[in-house]
Amino acid sequence: MNFLPTDDQLAFRDTAVRFAREKLAGTYLQRARIHTLDRQLVREMGALGLIGPDLPEEFGGMGLDYTTAGLMTEAIAYGDFNISYIQLLASLMGGMVAQHAGRDISMEWIPRVIAGEKIIGLGLTEPRGGSDAAGLQLKAEKTANGWRLNGEKTSMSAADQADAAVIFARTEDSTTGSNGVSAFFVDLTEKGISRTHFDDIGTKPVGRGSVFFDDVVIPSECLMATEGRAFGTIMAGFDFSRALIGLECIAPAQASVDETWAYIQEREAFGAPLAQYQGVTFPLAEAETQLTMMRQLCYYTLNLRDSGNSHTAEAAMCKWYVPKTTCEIIHQCLILHGHYGYTTDLPFHQRYNDVLGLQIGDGTAQIQKLVIAREKVGRVALQYDKQAKGGAA
Ligand SMILES: Cc1cc2nc3c(=O)[nH]c(=O)nc-3n(C[C@H](O)[C@H](O)[C@H](O)COP(=O)(O)OP(=O)(O)OC[C@H]3O[C@@H](n4cnc5c(N)ncnc54)[C@H](O)[C@@H]3O)c2cc1C
Repeated sequence: MNFLPTDDQLAFRDTAVRFAREKLAGTYLQRARIHTLDRQLVREMGALGLIGPDLPEEFGGMGLDYTTAGLMTEAIAYGDFNISYIQLLASLMGGMVAQHAGRDISMEWIPRVIAGEKIIGLGLTEPRGGSDAAGLQLKAEKTANGWRLNGEKTSMSAADQADAAVIFARTEDSTTGSNGVSAFFVDLTEKGISRTHFDDIGTKPVGRGSVFFDDVVIPSECLMATEGRAFGTIMAGFDFSRALIGLECIAPAQASVDETWAYIQEREAFGAPLAQYQGVTFPLAEAETQLTMMRQLCYYTLNLRDSGNSHTAEAAMCKWYVPKTTCEIIHQCLILHGHYGYTTDLPFHQRYNDVLGLQIGDGTAQIQKLVIAREKVGRVALQYDKQAKGGAA
């Protein structure tokens, strides 16, 4: 096993590192307070090839390996966690569309996602709950030329900014759980769709909200994957996003640790730099250890994916362990900055609130542990599981 990046992978990462340093890091806090994404900045990222590098060449992507996409996501998230959400959404949703939507839809939308012009969201969670994702109720009824959607999706990232979304809906009355669930590619400007915006404590530029479907009629070509059997097939894409989420969370924690190493060499207490006290350096030494281990886990997971090996359990490990541990690391860095750390002038509160959301989004720690247990001992581990390919949005 070789976890050292190749020269090519490093070259792609360097472009992202430069962009993060020059365009993102200094203005992260400013952007983090605004409730909308800077779409011009996103288009600049697109022009540099920083969005969806893993997406297929036939749809305008570079068809790069998943590890390179991870390296680029981590680099961008070091400068601005929220902007890296765009990469996450593009890789996850673009991959879903490329694999499971019709060719016309892919040809029309994926190049624009890669260019930073369009955002595709994910509509899985409903008001009744997100952990039991397959128990969804939004209804899709067949019409003469397509489908009619009625119901609500909630907690959708970028709900009021996304241009389209993959919407999971129940297409068979008689079944429960994942059987009878279909997925649809929906242009969110369709008649009958309305959206709301939540006032979240973090990740404000991306935001979340509800999307309401009131007799929304979509053409039959919008059906993705196999009717009534979309859940298991499409959820496999989450094994990728969970490793990317890990890398997204590692970056702001690493930035916090780097800044704290610098601070403790300048700041003095009791007549000596803070760096002289082991009570100060040991938590940072522990954080560096944890960050190194977590980074290895995430790239190992992407490496398994690149080589065509199963990585469901590893992806769930990334998803439950990394957001939790990186929150703890950022918290520690805030404390080591003393009272300055508690101000909104420094980025620690913002990074903490931003990363915290991903302890819930894409499925909580409990759900990820259920996925790991199922991978180890089979469905006996899931007395509550009604899903074919477990997890949540
Ligand atoms: C920042 C953010 C972004 C998000 N983005 C999206 C998105 O783009 N699209 C989308 O569809 N959804 C999105 N979500 C929703 C997210 O996927 C759900 O919030 C999540 O799956 C949990 O669902 P819930 O909030 O309904 O909690 P519930 O399912 O009500 O669970 C509540 C608590 O009970 C625990 N729990 C539930 N069942 C079990 C069990 N069997 N064993 C042990 N514990 C259990 C959970 O872990 C949780 O702590 C996002 C959420 C956040 C915070």
